[in-house]
Amino acid sequence: MKESKKRRQRETKTKLLRGEETPRNKESVRNSETLGDQEAGKEGRENQGNSPGTLWIVPTPIGNLEDITLRALRTLKEVDKIAAEDTRNTRKLLTHFEIHKPLISYHDHNEKQRSEGITADLEKGVSIALVSDAGMPGISDPGFEVIQRVIEKNLPLEILPGPAAFVNALVGSGLPNGRFVFEGFLSRERKERKKRLEALKEEERTMIFYESPHRMKESLKDMEEIFGPRQAAIARELTKRYEEFIRGSVTALIEGLEKAPLKGEMVLVVAGFRGKKEESFEGLSLEEHLLLLMETGLSKKDAVKKVAKDRGIPKREVYDVGIGFENPPADD
Ligand code: SAM
Repeated sequence: MKESKKRRQRETKTKLLRGEETPRNKESVRNSETLGDQEAGKEGRENQGNSPGTLWIVPTPIGNLEDITLRALRTLKEVDKIAAEDTRNTRKLLTHFEIHKPLISYHDHNEKQRSEGITADLEKGVSIALVSDAGMPGISDPGFEVIQRVIEKNLPLEILPGPAAFVNALVGSGLPNGRFVFEGFLSRERKERKKRLEALKEEERTMIFYESPHRMKESLKDMEEIFGPRQAAIARELTKRYEEFIRGSVTALIEGLEKAPLKGEMVLVVAGFRGKKEESFEGLSLEEHLLLLMETGLSKKDAVKKVAKDRGIPKREVYDVGIGFENPPADD
């Protein structure tokens, strides 16, 4: 095949994947469908000295397979290779969609070295899709290294939109979402975790954490200790059969977990800091202190518990003051 023809074909293929559907590109859809995966791959690998291949960042479902986009499927069908966090997992996904492509591994332990190989391939004109086990690659998943390298080398990079667990969790939490901060996973080490939480103590934006089911209760306990009273939500098994949002104060969530541990994948969303007055009770009467905490969204029970703990007095004493106080309406 002549070099110029090959270059034209490659440019058309990139436009096609970008969704720029000119009539010429539409024609190429048919061509690429009849070309077959192996031919497309061969063309990419032979394209030495011409335009570089694109790295496509392709998000995959976080549970429900119907959440893969048409564009993601088309991209996976048309690239030359797919770099995957776990090739066995990705193979299952691809088989489900009847996509057969060469797979290479790209995970936490080979990111640096693999990034070299991927960029070398891209420079030769090979197009590559990067996928992780679920959701958006690079979001608490491998991807950062190769993306950095591709940007440094000024190679083409395309990010497809798609599932990411934190977005659903934030939106469904019911907590303010105008401003938010994504914290990813907290450290497994308690000391490190508490240090991070201390740094976030006065963070005013809603905070989002990825957390394992085994550590959720411990993390919430650290938050209760460091943040004080806060509203929060656990978003569990998003997009899956047993999807669930558990909303309430951090204290109520801990109590719930003590009664029945939760299984599955989960995201924790926590309200931001509402200002100094929430933290200090100096100069407040017992009644004012209790009311203040209830205004921040704590139930009467949680507020009584917190006031008693803060002041080092028996719960009964606080409870008596609060007789007649109503539970607050749900937080905004
Ligand atoms: N790249 C993914 C994304 O875009 O969301 C995140 C991958 S990270 C290794 C896995 C964590 O994401 C889980 O521990 C959990 O906190 C969260 N997660 C992933 N899928 C989820 C789901 N279906 N429901 C709730 N949380 C989920």
